[in-house]
Amino acid sequence: MLKGKSAVITGSTSGIGLAVAGALAARGVNILLNGFGDAADIRMLCARLARDHGVRVEHHGADMSKPAEIAEMMEHAVAVLGAVDILVNNAGIQFVSPIEEFPPEKWDAIIAINLVALFHTIRHAVPGMKKRKWGRIINIASAHSVVASPFKSAYVAAKHGVAGLTRTVALETATFGITCNAICPGYVLTPLVEKQIPDTAKARGITEAQVVSDVLLAAQPTKQFVTVEQVAALACFLAGDDAASITGTLQAIDGGWTAQ
Ligand code: NAD
Repeated sequence: MLKGKSAVITGSTSGIGLAVAGALAARGVNILLNGFGDAADIRMLCARLARDHGVRVEHHGADMSKPAEIAEMMEHAVAVLGAVDILVNNAGIQFVSPIEEFPPEKWDAIIAINLVALFHTIRHAVPGMKKRKWGRIINIASAHSVVASPFKSAYVAAKHGVAGLTRTVALETATFGITCNAICPGYVLTPLVEKQIPDTAKARGITEAQVVSDVLLAAQPTKQFVTVEQVAALACFLAGDDAASITGTLQAIDGGWTAQ
């Protein structure tokens, strides 16, 4: 069903993006990875995914805070893979601080990478999808697209923005065989979450162990982290033909967090 399609997955050298790339590759999708990391490690990652799944896997190191680099990446994807059938907007960063101490440059970076970059990848991908009358846009949003937490002003603002962008793009593309949905994970134990544990401990004046039990997992009724494999499986479902009538939605995968 997805075999032979091509996907761009932003921020796919780590965490959720890497799991989504692996799961799509396992379904026969050619992949353009994006994200930072050691060049030799990334070359090995591309070679491993290509060998394991018999698909083409390339990497482009575009910085999602730089619109010109995003344009180059999207052109490169078409040049090397032939098309962008599936776009997974996943790259994201976090910074935790009370608003009055929030560094303006951190605010700008979070809004650029977690929200504005999606405008740019989507605007480049949609014309080809419309022409081929098929496309899947999957935005890795967050439970923070629908609820807030203190000390995450920029992240929550950006992720709420992603919800609005997702719905708008879904309406604009609905008659072209294109769907646009957001996946809204709760806490997933990736480097992004691991890094914010010390900062949250500092901001709240508690220990790191208390951050995990009393802040992160306190929000999730299951008391379990969501796994990257679970998020990747949902992304693959949304990419498939069975999800053709699902568009403009925010798919919660948060252990019940936003049910409260
Ligand atoms: P991660 O830190 O493991 O991975 C982030 C990826 O983005 C990496 O590949 C990194 O190189 C890349 N990246 C960072 N800045 C970039 C830039 N400027 N340009 C290009 N690539 C860049 O994080 P993750 O937890 O896997 O997060 C992935 C997405 O999932 C993010 O959008 C995040 O907001 C969202 N999310 C994560 C969680 C969670 O609990 N981990 C929960 C909800 C939503």
